[in-house]
Amino acid sequence: MTIQQFASETVGAGAREFQAWYDANPGGFYINMKNPQQGMLHAVGCPHLGNPREWTAGPFDSCRRRKVCDLDRRALVRWAQELRVTLTPCSDCRP
Ligand SMILES: [Zn+2]
Repeated sequence: MTIQQFASETVGAGAREFQAWYDANPGGFYINMKNPQQGMLHAVGCPHLGNPREWTAGPFDSCRRRKVCDLDRRALVRWAQELRVTLTPCSDCRP
């Protein structure tokens, strides 16, 4: 499984594709990028995002902030280290 990234600004259907990944990977992890240097690590199912069914493109676009996704938590940690992204684990889902 390779890391997948979803973002509104680079992929038109970012939110829809992220939702499809999210639904297909219940044991997965994702990084919500605050900015190019900082991201928060979440587990799929984290209450932060609410019900993924409610995500829509537009004002509440879930991929306004880039999402970096993988089933393997270690792969995401490695990815962040390589790009010098400071990763903060979410205090709610404790990934
Ligand atoms: Zn979380």
